[in-house]
Amino acid sequence: MAEYTGGCLCGNIRYRIAARPARPHFCSCRMCQRWSGAPIVAWADFPRESAVFDGPGGNPAFFRSSKASRRGHCPTCGGAICAVDDGSDKICMTVATLDDPDAIVPKARSHPDSAPSWLKVEAVPPARRA
Ligand SMILES: [Zn+2]
Ligand SMILES: [Zn+2]
Repeated sequence: MAEYTGGCLCGNIRYRIAARPARPHFCSCRMCQRWSGAPIVAWADFPRESAVFDGPGGNPAFFRSSKASRRGHCPTCGGAICAVDDGSDKICMTVATLDDPDAIVPKARSHPDSAPSWLKVEAVPPARRA
């Protein structure tokens, strides 16, 4: 089983996950945009118990972003790390915080109509560079 590792910009929040990612996708809903500061966020789901936060800062700080969901970030640098829906056994991780962001390729898009008009995203990302 591959282990995925990643963390925030300052290194306060680190994680490792030994599980298979599910539903890798892009989202450009307005909440993702405002939360991340980016026009689109790449996500992948993992079993919630598989995510181990082992950096010096321990667990991310959580912000309630909607009635049904909380988003986790680094309280020091603000790095956007994860999201958890209430009652879900999944944790959704930001692919771009992986140490190797090429390790998971988004296969679908959510809320493409909410993306800025200037954003161009290929439906299927190019193959990993050699
Ligand atoms: Zn940080
Ligand atoms: Zn979103």
